[in-house]
Amino acid sequence: FKPSQAPQPPAKPNRSKSEHVKTELAQVVVDAKTGRSYCKGKLLGKGGFARCYEMTDLANNKMYAVKVIPQSRVSKPHQREKIINEIELHKSLQHKHVVKFSHHFEDQDNIYIFLELCSRKSLAHIWKARHTLTDPEVRYYLKQIISALKYLHNKGILHRDLKLGNFFVNENMDLRLGDFGLAAKLETVEQRKKTICGTPNYLAPEVLNRRGHGTESDVWSLGCVMYTLLCGNPPFETLDLKETYKCIKEVRYSLPRSLIPSAQKLISAVLQKDPSDRLTLDQILAHEYFTKGFTPEKLPPSSCVMMPELNP
Ligand code: ADP
Repeated sequence: FKPSQAPQPPAKPNRSKSEHVKTELAQVVVDAKTGRSYCKGKLLGKGGFARCYEMTDLANNKMYAVKVIPQSRVSKPHQREKIINEIELHKSLQHKHVVKFSHHFEDQDNIYIFLELCSRKSLAHIWKARHTLTDPEVRYYLKQIISALKYLHNKGILHRDLKLGNFFVNENMDLRLGDFGLAAKLETVEQRKKTICGTPNYLAPEVLNRRGHGTESDVWSLGCVMYTLLCGNPPFETLDLKETYKCIKEVRYSLPRSLIPSAQKLISAVLQKDPSDRLTLDQILAHEYFTKGFTPEKLPPSSCVMMPELNP
């Protein structure tokens, strides 16, 4: 499903190991067209095609998160098209809860995509440290995710890969939706490509049944995200992928009694098999889980690793 799971292309035979090491260690990257130079900092993470580094613009000390994609990984036209699609789509987005796209360029070795730096990484990192979040925290993050998602859906764009690792958090604890590698323009039911893409655990039943991905399928994934943050594990996790798919198709999951009733009600209203039975994003925001519960204005950075004390 992800490029990382695709067979790796063999290393270029005509390139010596020392040359590889040299490009890996190169500390300064220059955009030949603008003449700007950037200093490569720490590795933020590795993805399917890319490694992501902190980089500093040497002219003004501005810091970015930069996706570095080796040319060797995009040598085939369809691989290149995927990256170009991601760049063009991301470039067209401007919203306070979407990772800001700055600019991009390429040299002989790599394509560089300059993004707003989200120094606290993602909800996946917070979830790893915390395992479960409190209701006020979940409301805080979900409201920002929904705001970004409404913006995308209004523009006729589906994200198609909503998962904890794609909800980035900046220094100020604001959430930013990112990674548009699988995003696509919304098509009519007939036009939809019926290929399965996205993260297995959060795939909607209609996507598994090859009916294509609609805005409702993003809403399903959002329900899975909410479940995971409150319960500590994904709703349809089993040891076997086939079994997970069966559970998804039958919407077989359990709601822990520890969840407050409005959370249980909201999750079950979102995880509906028939896409037309699912709540819309506006209905989710109008649900008692949000209207009758407290949402903090801001979360303390310590909540990335410790349960916060939040008072209405
Ligand atoms: P993936 O293929 O997993 O979607 P990406 O190439 O989008 O991966 O990103 C790889 C890693 O780089 C992510 O897991 C994340 O830790 C980090 N990362 C990506 N974008 C940003 C950003 N804007 N700010 C901080 N870290 C980022």
